[in-house]
Amino acid sequence: MARILITSALPYINGIKHLGNLVGSQLPADLTARYMRARGHEVMFICATDEHGTPAELAAAKTGEAVADYCARMHDVQAELARGFRLSFDHYGRSSSAQNHRLTQHFAGKLAENGFIEEVSEKQVYSIADGRFLPDRYIEGTCPNCGYDRARGDQCENCTKQLDPTDLINPRSAISGSTELEVRETKHLYLKQKALKGDIDGWIDGQKDWPILTTSIAKKWLHDGDGLQDRGITRDLNWGIPVKKGDQDWPGMEGKVFYVWFDAPIEYIAATAEWAAKQGLGDEAWERWWRTDKGAEDVRYLQFMGKDNVPFHTLSFPATIMGSREPWKLVDYIKSFNYLNYDGGQFSTSQGRGVFMDQALSILPADYWRWWLLSHAPESSDSEFTWENFQASVNKDLADVLGNFVSRITKFCRSKFGEALPEGGEFGEREAQLVAELETRIRAYEGFMEAMEVRKAASELRAIWVAGNEYLQSAAPWTVIKTEPERAAAMVRLSLNLVRLYAVLSEPFIPDAAATMLAAMKTEDRSWPTDVSAALSVLPVGHAFETPEVLFGKIADESREEWAAQFAGVRT
Ligand SMILES: [Zn+2]
Repeated sequence: MARILITSALPYINGIKHLGNLVGSQLPADLTARYMRARGHEVMFICATDEHGTPAELAAAKTGEAVADYCARMHDVQAELARGFRLSFDHYGRSSSAQNHRLTQHFAGKLAENGFIEEVSEKQVYSIADGRFLPDRYIEGTCPNCGYDRARGDQCENCTKQLDPTDLINPRSAISGSTELEVRETKHLYLKQKALKGDIDGWIDGQKDWPILTTSIAKKWLHDGDGLQDRGITRDLNWGIPVKKGDQDWPGMEGKVFYVWFDAPIEYIAATAEWAAKQGLGDEAWERWWRTDKGAEDVRYLQFMGKDNVPFHTLSFPATIMGSREPWKLVDYIKSFNYLNYDGGQFSTSQGRGVFMDQALSILPADYWRWWLLSHAPESSDSEFTWENFQASVNKDLADVLGNFVSRITKFCRSKFGEALPEGGEFGEREAQLVAELETRIRAYEGFMEAMEVRKAASELRAIWVAGNEYLQSAAPWTVIKTEPERAAAMVRLSLNLVRLYAVLSEPFIPDAAATMLAAMKTEDRSWPTDVSAALSVLPVGHAFETPEVLFGKIADESREEWAAQFAGVRT
């Protein structure tokens, strides 16, 4: 038994995530967590909402809530959706937690102690009426390029030109509208990543088994152009983690908070501390996952994320950990994903284009989405959601193959033998062939799951379902029963055991259907089929079962067309 720490990239707090976000981190992380638990490993699966930064402040201003209230409410909304998709986190934390405040300030203090923090004086826009420095996007004015009168200090929304706040004509505060702005000197902290470049480079070079997508992005940031740059880790915002050196004040940094990208990855650790506190456990309970001097030296740590998050996880977060010169656990494997596109374009939050997590669950159960998304995960390249493909995949894989197998064998047994495993008969050549095929395929499936090759694992699982269907089709117990009822009984017994086996193997992908199948077989035996022959006799002669309701309904053409129109987005 191994100990496996799994983190999913943290979803940002503002708004509900779309299916592309889901398949780029949380869902494949859940797949791996479920598989590792099924194999008997000790798993700690962590995620959290990423709650700091300007977008949270702006979103709260829009709804008229205090930003802390807004984040608390949206955390609950996202946590509920995560439950809806059966994401099996051990803890779903919040980056605004007391634990993250403490740890973030701790890391900053250690980095300063070790000479990896530089204080830099900068000129920044100060709003006299608001009594605060303004982040670039809090300054509005007229675009010097196109004349749009509501351009933001970082970019013009109208012509997309990147701007500096000082470029704007007639600049004003986006908070109060005040034009009483002036440029003032202010100090910010920089993480001296350049000084840690050699450490990071050597560490990346040591990762022989990482996906090319991950290492190529990291290497690009390390070496392209001027190479890895120092990074500002403080901001002038009210909402965030106050800048402190451990538990001490930081002279000159009053009123400033850490930049969201500094504190967000530290929340992986903090969320584990939140988990321990919630369980009523002491610090040693979470430290054994994170401190190599306190038990984490045998932990395997896996991270899941979209490719846009790779630089922060291969450079900035490791720089934070390495620069602390403390024995914190570094990631062992980063599984990164390309993008999922939506029906010939991109998902768009502002245009309401594509399917978002709440909408998905309002039209179909989680398993349908989990299966399609995982079996089409954007691993080696971007992939695309189309309603035709979704319909075909659900109807064929889930309804025609797996659902049909379960329905056919349980109904047949009920009508000919009653709702218990029939006795008599022996297995023959056909059954031996099936066992041999399953043995090969299940070992391949395990290999893909261990390697986190999501699409290949899905494809192997589908082949395992197909093998059962083909067996049933060719064995044809409904014909055999007329001449050799005992032989038919043996076929039925094996097939009903196969239902349990399918539930166990499929659980990481489709946990609700797996639970339904186990309940129908009236068993809680989730033992992994390390020996297929033995696994196919777990349910003994006479064991009672129930014929389940239809496992998966088919998607009709009318529904597909209706949904395609519903989620096409409002073009502006
Ligand atoms: Zn413009």
